This record gives sequence, C-alpha cells and structure tokens, in this order.
Amino acid sequence: MSVRLSSWIGLGKVGLTVTDQPYAYQRRELIEPDWRRFPGWADVTAAQWESAQWQRAHCVKNIRQLRQVAGPGLSEAFCADLERDQRERATMSMLVPPQMLNTMVPAAAPGEPGFTEALYADPVRRYMIPVFSDRRADWPSHPYATRDSLHEAEMWAVEGLTHRYPTKVLAELLPTCPQYCGHCTRMDLVGNPTPTIGKHKFGQGRDDRLAAMIAYLKATPGVRDVVVSGGDVANLPWPRLEAFVTDLLDVGSIRDIRLATKALMGMPQHWLGDEVRAGMERLGARARERGVSIAIHTHVNAAQSVTPLVARAAQAMLDTGIRDVRNQGVLLRGVNDSPEALLDLSFALLDEAKIMPYYLYMCDMIPGSEHWRLSLAEAQRLQHAIMGYLPGFATPRIVCDVPYVGKRWVHQVSRYDTDLGISHWTKNYRTGIEAGDPLALSREYPYYDPIYLLPEHGQRWWRERDRDRSPELTLVP
Ligand code: SF4
Repeated sequence: MSVRLSSWIGLGKVGLTVTDQPYAYQRRELIEPDWRRFPGWADVTAAQWESAQWQRAHCVKNIRQLRQVAGPGLSEAFCADLERDQRERATMSMLVPPQMLNTMVPAAAPGEPGFTEALYADPVRRYMIPVFSDRRADWPSHPYATRDSLHEAEMWAVEGLTHRYPTKVLAELLPTCPQYCGHCTRMDLVGNPTPTIGKHKFGQGRDDRLAAMIAYLKATPGVRDVVVSGGDVANLPWPRLEAFVTDLLDVGSIRDIRLATKALMGMPQHWLGDEVRAGMERLGARARERGVSIAIHTHVNAAQSVTPLVARAAQAMLDTGIRDVRNQGVLLRGVNDSPEALLDLSFALLDEAKIMPYYLYMCDMIPGSEHWRLSLAEAQRLQHAIMGYLPGFATPRIVCDVPYVGKRWVHQVSRYDTDLGISHWTKNYRTGIEAGDPLALSREYPYYDPIYLLPEHGQRWWRERDRDRSPELTLVP
C-alpha cells in the first residue's frame, strides 16, 4: 500500500511517498460469529441468543458442558490438557458465557480440519479457558507472586472498600462475575474455589458492607471518585446496584462514578435488557442533575471480542446519557502482545463500538500467571509501537500496577535492572495504610519481570535465591 503525503521541507512543499507503515490501518466491519456452528447450539434462535437469561443459563462451567456444546470435534487431548490445568494450576473456576465462547475460532466449526490447533492458538481461549500446556513448566509462578497481589484487602477502609489513592476508592460490591478470566487479579476473592485455591469470604453481609461504604464516603469528603466493581456489577441484582449508585449520587463530594463490568463485552445481553437500560437512564438523569459523571469501564482484550452485540450494548449505555464507556484491557502474552493486536483492538473499540481505549494493564503477579506476563521492557516497546496511530485521547496507556504504589505508566520506572528483571518505582502520595510513614514518598517499590525471559546469569541468580528463600526475604539488591 502506498500513501501520498505532503510535507514542508525547508521553504518548498515537497511530495513524499510513504510506504509500508509498520501498521496498516483499515476499518473492519464487526462480525457476530454464527453460534450454530457449535453442535450444541445448532438450534438456538436469535431471540434466545439475545436473551441475557438464556446466556446465563447456558454458560459453560465444566468440561462436560464444553463437550456438549462443541460435540465430538473437540479433541480428547485438549480436554485432558484442560482437566489437568483445572486440577493442578487454575486459580479461577471455569465460567464462559456463550457470547464469549462463540468468539473463539470464529471462522471454523469443531471437527473441521485444524479446529483444535486454532482453539489452542485462539486469543480469547488462551485467557478464558487456560490449559496446562499453556503454563510455564520452569516457573509457573514468580517467587513473589501472591494472592491479592495488589494488597487491596490491606487497604480496605471498611470491608470491600479499598482506599489506595488520595481522592478515589474502589468499592468491591460482590465476589462474582458472569464470566471468570483465568488471569483475574482478584483471584483471592472472586469466583468459586478451585482444587488449589480457596477463596476469601467477606465477613459482613452484603447490605451491611454497602451501608458501611456509603457511611465512610459521607465521612470522607476528600474522596471524589468511586470505582464500583466486584467481581462484576452485572451480577448484582439491578435494584440493589441502582440503590447503591443513587446513594453515591447523594454524597455531595463525589464527582465521578465508574461502573466496572466486563459483561458489557462478555454478556452484552445483560446491558441490553429493558430493566437495566431503564435503570441506567434514571441514574444518568440524576447524575446530570447533580453534575456527576457516570462512566462504564469494561475489559476487552482481543479485537474479535468486539461484535455487533457489544457495539449495540455500548451504544445503548451512551444513549442513557452517561458520560463514556471505556476499556481497561490486560496485556497478555499470546492474546494481545503485538502492536497489531493492540491497534486492531483499539480501532475496533473506538471506530465500531464507541468504546474509548483507555488502559492496558500489565498482568499482575498472581500465582500461575508467568506464561501470560510480559516484561516491563516488552511493555515499554509496545507502548512506543502504538503511539501515533490513534488520536491522543484514545491511545491506551500501558500501565504497571505496582504493589503498594498503584498504576504507573510503564515509562515512569525510576530504576530497572534488566539482568535480574527488577524494576523500581516511586510515588507521590500515601496509600490508606501509610498515613504516618515518613518514608512512603521516598521509598522505592519493586516489580518483577518473568524470570524465564532473563539472561542466563539473571535466571541463575533467581534459582539460587529460590532454593533457600524465606517469605520475608527482601530480594531488592
Ligand atoms: S471479569 Fe474482572 S473480576 Fe471478573 S474474573 Fe474477569 S478479571 Fe476478574
């Protein structure tokens, strides 16, 4: 492809031919793959498919149900690989809505030649249905991987309300979602137990917790911004969510409310339902009266997940008068770890679904996540590679969520030892647990690259320390 540009060089206008940009932009029409290619859904009608109730009732929760949907074309070797992962490695139980399963291998049916290979390679499969052979055999987990790797529970002002940043809080209303992602940062709390991971349980009942959150916010006028999350707010009965957001709108100091829901993509049928749309209209009207911004934050990692139904759900939400729908994806190896994948995703969101590409988080250091994680250097290269193609306001920032610090742009690192894969970060505010800490603003906080990516001497350094490691050992050299 060749593009004719005009450029001023010196005093003369000179024609310049630019060929072969690293990324070739082109609009792509969104596609809702035909779900009837799956034998188990051969007779499912469009009306059933577009019903949130049907979607919820037909989520795939185990290998038996996956076999029922995919039929004999799903290979036994794949099922055995999946079964072993669930038994030995998985931190999240399986829960895949039909909408999401249908976006995997969109152009082939189970049983067609190459389907199994395409399923193994599929970006959505890689994070929604992880198999044992996906994971690293040498370092499945980083030695410093932890449950609740962001220490959110340590910063709970009241149960479920994380006060990490000076002016904003995260409200975890519930511990469930309509879909469970293999790499979930909140694997400590969210979802059902797996054979290797028990889940933290909230101590208080839901209504008492939510009331305590509102009371804290009323008493803490320095907080202006509330991320209403979970889990996924799509799993809270609508009247309860609407009541909570209405209570937030009555707290005079709150100016921004963000509703976190991957289900806008994973189960757009939920957000297209009459009750939810009417309720969002009421909330949108009240927010405008109060001069408060409500936005929806969703979580899309691959361009193929952006289908016409997702675009319809995003448009339905914008039509209720809320301020914006934004995407916070996660950077994952094998899913979106190339400039093409990130730009395809961003353009599909921005051009076709009116969803603002906003953040791409580096995958957090939870157990079993090494095969998904990228090094900081790789993330920096990706940020560089995607600059200049999208409008500035829609160029996603790639961020590292540094434990005890918070989100930092990947180029904000203060020191970085690429031999040992240790980056050091500083911050300019105190978290909720550092009120009396004189060193909070001068201390450096570490973050770690995957060890298998390091040069051999760096890997050896970690192997030697891992042999006689104690949990308290400080590895910052
Ligand atoms: S939707 Fe979000 S909270 Fe739910 S499992 Fe996925 S990453 Fe975790």
